[in-house]
Parts: sequence; structure tokens; C-alpha cells
Amino acid sequence: MVKTSGTEIYDCRAWLYIQYWLLDKSLDEIAKECNLNNKSPIWNRLKKFKIPTRSQKDVIKLESYRKKLRKANLGNKNPMFGKFKENVSYGGIHWWVKRNKPKPEKCEICNKNVKLELSSKNHIISRNLDDWQWVCHKCHYNHDLEKGLLNRNGKGQFNKVDNPKW
Ligand SMILES: [Zn+2]
Repeated sequence: MVKTSGTEIYDCRAWLYIQYWLLDKSLDEIAKECNLNNKSPIWNRLKKFKIPTRSQKDVIKLESYRKKLRKANLGNKNPMFGKFKENVSYGGIHWWVKRNKPKPEKCEICNKNVKLELSSKNHIISRNLDDWQWVCHKCHYNHDLEKGLLNRNGKGQFNKVDNPKW
């Protein structure tokens, strides 16, 4: 089949956006999928379509996150595989929301001007930005306690609940 320019799959903005932001793929991976020898055509399209690109810091974070996942997923015959796969999407979505939900100056619960963390309001893992909130560490903690994501053991120490009802 003769390919004419302008009709490649990566000429579709929606496809590219999904690959890059929703599936968390790197430029190299997208290029490989399109049978390209290098990533510059992909990079050019991202710029052309005005799709925001990851900062160097984001790239490093994503890389180390994926390394951890690869380690956890070694051998997909592992009965835990499905479980980790769920975590893949949780991690990916959390990361995506962090990038896309504007961070306010103050905690959305106590209104204090301190360092903020991203928290899921009802522990529904979705790409709906309204399901998430920027809160301080203390409020995040209280919120998770209230929603049963954390509990106290007999010694009064806090533990993460293994299987929270997401
Ligand atoms: Zn707070």
C-alpha cells in the first residue's frame, strides 16, 4: 500500500492525544507503533496539534513509575497480574489528573495555605476532574480515615487498608 503524506494515523489529533495522555505512552513507543524509525514526526504533530507535552520532571517520574510496575508484573501468569493492571490505570489516572486539575492556593477543605496533595473525593478513580480535590496532608489523612482507606491497628498506628472500596 502506498502511503501518502497527511494520512498517517498520527495525523489524527484525537488518536495522538489518547496515545500520549490517556495511555501514557512515550514518544518512542508511539513512533514504534507507527513504524517510524525516529520520534521526530510524532513530536512535530504534538506541537502542530498544540497537545501539551510532558516536562522533563514528568518524564522521569513516569519512567520510574513504570519500572516499578514492570517489576511487579514480571510474568503475567502471576495471579496478581489483574490486580496490578488495575493499579496501572489508577496510577495513570492519578498522574493525569494531577497534570490537568489546576492546583489552588489553599486546601479545598480547611482553606489553609499549605502544601497540597491530590485526593480522590469519593475514591472513584475517574478522569472527571470534579471527582478530585487538592487538599493539605492533614485533610487528606482525615478524609481517607473517614472513607475507610486508612485504619488504626491495635497499637494505635495507622495502616493503609489493602483493598479499599474504590
Ligand atoms: Zn486542609
